[in-house]
Amino acid sequence: MQREPVTAYVALGANLGDAASAVREAVQAIATVPGVTAVRCSRLYRSAPVEASGPDFVNAVVELQTALSALALLDALQAIEDFAGRQRPYRNAPRTLDLDLLLYGSASIDSVRLTVPHPRMTERAFVLRPLAELAPERVTAEQLRAVADQPIEPLGA
Ligand code: AMP
Repeated sequence: MQREPVTAYVALGANLGDAASAVREAVQAIATVPGVTAVRCSRLYRSAPVEASGPDFVNAVVELQTALSALALLDALQAIEDFAGRQRPYRNAPRTLDLDLLLYGSASIDSVRLTVPHPRMTERAFVLRPLAELAPERVTAEQLRAVADQPIEPLGA
């Protein structure tokens, strides 16, 4: 059965090697997933690591339309992460790319593999700022105020 397209939002983050290229390539990869259309990407941002050490992160959020189920979309995102992860400079190197499914239409999902809305999305400026660019109606001013102390700036600023 053909399902109605759903608007979903995906957070992208990378902090190893050429992180900006990793994010841009991931956006391209998402746009070529069968069943995904109308991909729009926020600006790229640079953010300091939260609860982690290491280089700054490059972050972005993608909006897309999809006929895929939330789990099938997660499968596709994990395949893209795995592919990026294969380009590791050394064994057991940290992952070069993190993709999180933030929102899948208005669905609430709480299963073994998937929690949507993403449970930590409202704690992170690097998610809320780019998400607010694409979908201001999905982020409140209060949520943005709550993360205003987290260092983040558009890349190249
Ligand atoms: P991480 O290593 O932080 O990217 O977490 C990946 C794990 O989180 C995977 O096992 C996913 O099945 C699970 N997961 C649960 N909810 C989500 C979500 N909304 N987006 C991405 N991964 C999720």
